[in-house]
Amino acid sequence: MAVIDRAVLEGVLAYLREHYPAACRHWFSEIEIVDVIDGTLHLLVTEDVRRRYLQRQCIDAFTEAAQSVTGRLLPVSFVGEVPQIETSMPGGVFKHQDDGGEDEILLSPDYTFDTFVVGPDNRLAHAAALAVAEQPGRAYNPFFIHGGVGLGKTHLLQAICQTAMRTNPDMRICYISCNSFMNNFMDAVQEGKMKDFRHRFRTYDVLVVDDIHDITNRGPSQEEFFHTFNSLYQSGRQVVLSSDAPPNEIPDLEERLTSRFNSGLVAPIEKPCYETRVAILKSKATLRGIDVPDEVAGYVAARVDSNIRELEGALTTLQSLAKIDSREIDLALAKQCIGGQAQVDSSAQVSVSVQSILDTVSGFYGLRVGDLLSKRRQRSIALPRQIGMYLARRHTRFSLGEIGGYFGGRDHTTVMHAIKTIDGKRVNDDGLDRDLVRLEEALTGQDAI
Ligand code: ADP
Ligand code: MG
Repeated sequence: MAVIDRAVLEGVLAYLREHYPAACRHWFSEIEIVDVIDGTLHLLVTEDVRRRYLQRQCIDAFTEAAQSVTGRLLPVSFVGEVPQIETSMPGGVFKHQDDGGEDEILLSPDYTFDTFVVGPDNRLAHAAALAVAEQPGRAYNPFFIHGGVGLGKTHLLQAICQTAMRTNPDMRICYISCNSFMNNFMDAVQEGKMKDFRHRFRTYDVLVVDDIHDITNRGPSQEEFFHTFNSLYQSGRQVVLSSDAPPNEIPDLEERLTSRFNSGLVAPIEKPCYETRVAILKSKATLRGIDVPDEVAGYVAARVDSNIRELEGALTTLQSLAKIDSREIDLALAKQCIGGQAQVDSSAQVSVSVQSILDTVSGFYGLRVGDLLSKRRQRSIALPRQIGMYLARRHTRFSLGEIGGYFGGRDHTTVMHAIKTIDGKRVNDDGLDRDLVRLEEALTGQDAI
């Protein structure tokens, strides 16, 4: 008999919407409650990619929510099926992973064809991606997508994987970043496991390598990738690649790879036009379960035009501001939000990179960059970390969520909290204020007074 009912789950979801709005997705409503088994709340999420996303990114938030709703410590576990027997099934039910988990593909449930907005700027890439996903190895091989940062390459690549997995459940599909491919290769060389490496990468039915432009200047890796490519291609397996430039314009790419990459379909993704930007903003809002009126979407899309990640950043900021002030997302709020960004931009005449902030702050406080990215909470580390986030907000154009990402994968609310904390302390603490002035001077290259 169930000891826990649906109301608990409703409570948990309400708590998450309140405290972790950016992590929420509209499909959370499809999560089902199983029961409390061995002191753990089991939640049913049948779709693999969604379940992994929850397990990877949301487990702490769910556990916190469950604790708040039930008033007791109640760890949460996401399972793919209802456990058959009464005995415990710790840690959720996952598909068997061979090779120590190397085969696990980490895909974002946000990156599907359903959520991809098609416009004149990405129509070809989208249509071809769909064809490839439905008939891997038969439509276009290799399939090569290129375009600038934040224009949807990773989204399309992952959508291909998710659709191919669904339509061809028996296929072995690998999504990997180029860097990760090269690291795997180097490890294999060092550990004398090249045989395993080759067996693994030359037997996939679909190999999807993101950001292949990273392969430049890595001679032995290029060589290995060339052979991997040939082997897959010759046996009719699908190869999908993305890059920030077309094959001919990737610097230091060997000619034989350039010509291989050009031999299938090469599809560009251009910067999105205004209409596409509006549609994307609305789609992202729906995905997060928030309401953005047309006039707001239009206002934001007209002003944020560099890439889609920035557009999403603007949405996150809007969502956060609306939450802090407990108000609706409306035009006035959008003006305040985007206006604020413009102010920050003009005050930061010199563009500063997050890396230089990490370097400067860690150097200043005698820490390692790794400390700032770590989970350690002692004050000697936590304060410099908050200072770093504060400086990143003031001197870069990154959104709260993106800054959180750079600082060890933290949530945008953590960044928001850091900014508020430092803002507050700066007023009363002369020592801190002086440190900040010196840090900012170091970052922007002005001489100390
Ligand atoms: P890239 O890999 O080209 O740098 P991403 O695929 O990571 O870019 O896209 C950045 C963000 O923009 C992602 O959140 C992605 O979902 C979103 N995005 C890009 N293009 C579209 C689109 N056409 N429709 C919906 N979302 C998009
Ligand atoms: Mg990408």
